[in-house]
This record gives sequence, structure tokens and C-alpha cells, in this order.
Amino acid sequence: MNEPLLPKVDFPPGSVWLTGAGPGDAGLLTLHALHGLRSADVIVYDALVSDDVLALAPGDTPREYAGKRGGKPSPKQADISLRLVQLARQGKRVLRLKGGDPFVFGRGGEEALTLVREGIPFRVIPGVTAGIGGLAYAGIPLTHRDTNHAVTMITGHDATGDVTGIDWKAVAKGAPVLVIYMAIKHLERIAVELMAGGRSPDEPVALVSNASTPDQRVLETVLSRCAADVEASDLKPPAIVVVGEVVKLRCGLDWLGASAGRILDPDPLSRVRRDETG
Ligand code: SAH
Repeated sequence: MNEPLLPKVDFPPGSVWLTGAGPGDAGLLTLHALHGLRSADVIVYDALVSDDVLALAPGDTPREYAGKRGGKPSPKQADISLRLVQLARQGKRVLRLKGGDPFVFGRGGEEALTLVREGIPFRVIPGVTAGIGGLAYAGIPLTHRDTNHAVTMITGHDATGDVTGIDWKAVAKGAPVLVIYMAIKHLERIAVELMAGGRSPDEPVALVSNASTPDQRVLETVLSRCAADVEASDLKPPAIVVVGEVVKLRCGLDWLGASAGRILDPDPLSRVRRDETG
């Protein structure tokens, strides 16, 4: 096969590329990310970056793990940012690889601000965020004309690690579809808050774990039962939670399931409660 023509923007020594690695499937990388992987002098990567993505870098490119997973000892954010500065000052091309998109709940903004303060040139390469790519791999559209004209993307905990700083009642009223990152730990409380804010206990919910990887699992449930159903399953983080009528379209759009023999419903819209808001 011929090598595709990569748009080879310059990756100067002494600079950092803050790069989205997507949710897992290496096929979801951008061409800029691939170019970065091939030309970096060092790769600093997060826990959510898949092995398949890292495998695209030459075997002898040094890799530094800067993983942060809930509950486990991990490098402090400030240390990671300073490490990027240090490597760039050594004249290296530093590929900072982050799961999904670096500017979506990934603290990429904080790292970039450190680079700005320290005068390190950088480039941001967006990636497919789990809340979009993960849903697509589960066969759930983020929007559909008949179900929702708006989406809220939200983190399941605030800067303190708790859910209390988030106005869940406002979130409940805000958009017909909610895409919640980092939600498993507090799912029970989030569901209770959303129902208190007016969302129906029967509202469809899906959890997509390890989206776009060979370990992808999807659990379909409803708001009133979602925490108990997750508890009873062996579903593991990372997972995206999606709340809303779009979940019902999955029975017609689960293309990944179809490739493994699932028969798709050609008329999933007959199941949805339509959004009458215009
Ligand atoms: N910057 C990332 C998000 C980092 S926050 C992005 O844009 O996707 C970490 C959260 O992202 C996880 O707790 C989970 O909710 C979600 N996530 C990341 N990768 C995922 C995957 N492959 N499958 C499901 N959820 C994922």
C-alpha cells in the first residue's frame, strides 16, 4: 500500500504537541497525531492512551508514563506540566499524548498554560473525544432531529472530586441529552439528582465502557436503575454515560453489533419520545 500523503506541519525541536489520541481505536487518530507519533523525540502519555496508538511510534522512541487513574498514586498535574517544560528545554520534540481530546476534561488547558508561562512553543492537535466517538461506536448518535437539538457534556465530579459543586437541577433541565464523563463513581447520586431535577425515572441511559477498544461493553438501562445495574454488572471504567432518548436509537444503529450478527431494527424512531421543543 502506498504511504498516504501526510500533511507534514513542522514539529520543531524544543516544542510540545498537545495531542488527542482518541478513545482507543488507533484508526481514529488524526494525520497530525500520526505525524507527531512518528517524529517525536519523546512521548509523554496518559493512562487512557491505548497500546495500539503507542504502537504507531517507532519502537525506540522513549515513552514516559504520566498516567492518572482514580484511586491510584499518580504524578501530580504540576509535575507533569513541568516535565513537559523540562523535556522541551532539552531541545526535544515532545509529544504529549492524551486520551480523547486534550481540551475536553483532560486538563490539557492547564498544561498548555504552563507552556505559555514558560515560553515553550506548542501546538494543540484535537482528538476524537470519548463522549462523541464512544457514542458512535455504541451506535448512539449524539443528536438526532427527532430527539434532541442540544447536548450537555459534563463531568461526573467537580474539581474537588465530588458532585456537589455541579448544579444538577439546572443540568437536568438544560438539554434532552446528557453525556457524562467520569460518572461511574457517583452514578447513584447523579441519577437521584437528575430525577429530583425532573428527569423521568424511565429515561433511557447507556454506559459505554472502553469504547472503541476490543473490550468495549455497552449497558443499556434506565435512570432509576442505572446505578444498581452497573453494580450488578462487571462493567469497568473508563466509561461514558449517556442519558436521553437517543439511546433508544441504538437498536437500529448498533453497527458494531451488526457486524457480529445483531439484527438491527430498521425503524427505531417508532420507539422514541419526540422532542417537541423545535
Ligand atoms: N480527554 C478525554 C476525557 C478525559 S476524562 C476525552 O476527550 O475523551 C476521562 C473520562 O473520559 C473517563 O472517566 C471516561 O468517562 C471517558 N473516557 C475516556 N476514554 C474512554 C473510553 N475509551 N471509553 C469510555 N469512556 C472513556
